[in-house]
Amino acid sequence: MCEFCVKHGEGQKWYLAMENYSRELLHQDGRIEFIGHFLNTFQARIPPSLKWLETLARTPFHRLARPFLTQAQKRNHFGQIVPLEEVEQILARVKGVIRLACVCRQVTIGQQEARYCYGLTADPRLVAEIDDSLSLEILTPGEAIASIRELDQEGLVHSIWTFKTPYIGGLCNCDQDCLAYRICHARNHFQVMFRGEYVASVDLDACNGCRNCMRQCQYGAIRYSATNKKVVVDPRQCFGCGVCRAACHRQAITLHARAEDPVAAGIW
Ligand code: SF4
Ligand code: SF4
Ligand code: SF4
Repeated sequence: MCEFCVKHGEGQKWYLAMENYSRELLHQDGRIEFIGHFLNTFQARIPPSLKWLETLARTPFHRLARPFLTQAQKRNHFGQIVPLEEVEQILARVKGVIRLACVCRQVTIGQQEARYCYGLTADPRLVAEIDDSLSLEILTPGEAIASIRELDQEGLVHSIWTFKTPYIGGLCNCDQDCLAYRICHARNHFQVMFRGEYVASVDLDACNGCRNCMRQCQYGAIRYSATNKKVVVDPRQCFGCGVCRAACHRQAITLHARAEDPVAAGIW
């Protein structure tokens, strides 16, 4: 289990603990205003921060700054990858869902209406706080899960996000246009999310070497052996998102617990 499960999970996965979604938590510590400010000012705030990070990365101070940047992120807005079946469990825990325009894609590709962000409450005070430009819709949890199943087929990786940890307020569906992917994985600036609690593996008897799964994996974790005409997952590279499974017509890929994987257990 990850660090947040130990701190915020009451002996289970932290994102399955009901209290981390509670209305009481949302209404404490200025969270509603924090979330409103976070979303409403994202397009103005983030480009200068990205420039600053690129400059920092060219200096020797980057290595020293990384742990502090990660700690600040863990306090305010940190994520973890979750597979589709746990998205379904999470949506069974919440009463209302909002869908809004993805703020990362507004910044990275100038797309204003990419609707991949889900808020895990339809609390009226929060709804009132969010700017009209994010064109918010209110969905039932059932409607949300039906649309997220389609995104899983397309290979979009699901993740949950805190707003003033441990409150969990966001469920995202991302590709390589996601700022978390770019900051954390592509540019390795600092950590903004944990990998999933799982690692994928391939049943070599079932695999026919078609390589569909390789195209679905955003993390380059699947390797093809021309000799064996099969694929294998590198557990050091696997983020445990599980979306490769949707691309495999032979059901050859399954997830197993990261904690029990001898190679990946300590890699978050
Ligand atoms: S984390 Fe993903 S869905 Fe959420 S804002 Fe960023 S790209 Fe959009
Ligand atoms: S999609 Fe399935 S059958 Fe095709 S290479 Fe991947 S694991 Fe093998
Ligand atoms: S191999 Fe791992 S990282 Fe790649 S799609 Fe599958 S579960 Fe995700």
